[in-house]
Amino acid sequence: RGIYKYSTAAAVEDPINPPVKVNYTQLLIGGQFVDAASGKTFQTLDPRTGDVIANVAEGDAEDVNRAVATARKAFDEGPWPRMAAYERQRVLLRFADLIEQHNDELAALETWDNGKPYEQAAKIEVPMLARLMRYYAGWADKIHGLTVPADGPYHVQTLHEPIGVAGQIIPWNFPLLMFAWKVGPALACGNAIVMKTAEQTPLSALFAAKLLHEAGLPSGVLNVVSGFGPTAGAAIASHMDVDKLAFTGSTATGKVVLQLAAKSNLKPVTLELGGKSPFIVCEDADVDKAVELAHFALFFNQGQCCCAGSRTFVHERVYDEFVEKAKARAVNRSVGDPFKGGIEQGPQIDSDQFDKILNYINSGIESGATLETGGERFGNKGYYIKPTVFSNVKDDMLIAKDEIFGPVQTILKYKDLDEVIRRANSTCYGLAAGVFTHNIDTANTLTRALRVGTVWVNSFDTFDAAIPFGGYKMSGHGREKGIYSLNNYLQVKAVVTPLHNPAWL
Ligand code: NAD
Repeated sequence: RGIYKYSTAAAVEDPINPPVKVNYTQLLIGGQFVDAASGKTFQTLDPRTGDVIANVAEGDAEDVNRAVATARKAFDEGPWPRMAAYERQRVLLRFADLIEQHNDELAALETWDNGKPYEQAAKIEVPMLARLMRYYAGWADKIHGLTVPADGPYHVQTLHEPIGVAGQIIPWNFPLLMFAWKVGPALACGNAIVMKTAEQTPLSALFAAKLLHEAGLPSGVLNVVSGFGPTAGAAIASHMDVDKLAFTGSTATGKVVLQLAAKSNLKPVTLELGGKSPFIVCEDADVDKAVELAHFALFFNQGQCCCAGSRTFVHERVYDEFVEKAKARAVNRSVGDPFKGGIEQGPQIDSDQFDKILNYINSGIESGATLETGGERFGNKGYYIKPTVFSNVKDDMLIAKDEIFGPVQTILKYKDLDEVIRRANSTCYGLAAGVFTHNIDTANTLTRALRVGTVWVNSFDTFDAAIPFGGYKMSGHGREKGIYSLNNYLQVKAVVTPLHNPAWL
């Protein structure tokens, strides 16, 4: 992460042609690309310009029914849950190889559809997709039950069986990584899947799913239905033949899908939802380093991270210096066409988010926070927003309470540890936190006191395959990645056999 000069808007005026073609726009059901039953399509847009990239088949309840029936058959009758685990492993390993072979195309599709810097997609996210697949391939042949002691003369064992047909609904901020977090554990455990991608970013998952079939995935095991939440998404969440639901998105939608699951067949639900994560800069901090990490914690991915360090708490002793340097760092952030080299920040995903973020910025100004820099559109086309920093932010301001999901850093001053612990925890969310200190006692105190699913000490956004991720409170239920994710996709069956079977006597 170098510090670049604030670029001109030239790239915004004249977008670079993406180095990739869109080949897959239909629904993927039963291993075939097919049109939606209704024949409808929707437009997916280039966030750099608002221009149409492609028309994509728009799945709805009827397509979900078809996809679930196909997945059901693949699970109940097909080879996938029955094949030797090492064969499932080989499919995932071949998929990882294919991801690497198609790294640049996948990254270009991701950048085109989402607006994230190409260098980030090509050097971090697509390689991470391959890494995650190899990680889950490693688990495929290591999933097994236990022999369990019993009080009487019984042989008791547990079988860890796949849960069945998994419904998976993902958001637009990390389309390929969310695809990987969901399909990796589900496939390693032998399940079938019906996935709905986000309507803003349907393209890369269709390409990845095609590669997975090339790697040898039997048809019907992974079905991808592009479409909208209230139609296709709700149909998955409420389907009687979907055995498990995994959802990533906003807390508001999380509540909706949980209710749909409860009202239908009580399918278990994992939820990865929103956050308002504190990033705590302690009084002993090296200010330059703290500024750089806090900047990364908030601005990475255009600020569109569920775990973004979106409340920057700074100790009063270093506060003024921190604010000045945080402002300078934001001014130096390079914004522009995400296909251009050296760009740190591309456009926001769409006009809705763009408007929502600008409204939050206005509310920050109106509520009396100090706008240090940014606060407006960048360029005159697409959904770019200038890196924005607010100081003098108070806990009761909307910008300190709501998830903005954009490039808006809010800096709050605190006096002592007890106070910052109380204020950091004073939110309905509990996804993540950052702690910046040299003092091991301070670090230990904070890591134990913060009610969040991840604490990054002197680091942020470290997302290795084995590190579990998920939220306390209204940031969600359950954990993804790592060993913990497997339980989401397994049933435990106890098998009890008398050691001396009365039937034989
Ligand atoms: P969203 O909740 O609107 O959409 C997420 C997904 O849910 C999309 O696929 C959407 O089509 C679908 N959906 C919408 N309404 C639905 C309904 N009624 N029934 C079923 N599905 C429905 O969220 P978003 O705006 O796309 O994503 C941003 C939000 O997601 C942020 O709040 C962010 O914090 C959160 N997020 C969380 C994590 C995490 O791991 N905790 C990761 C990424 C994003």
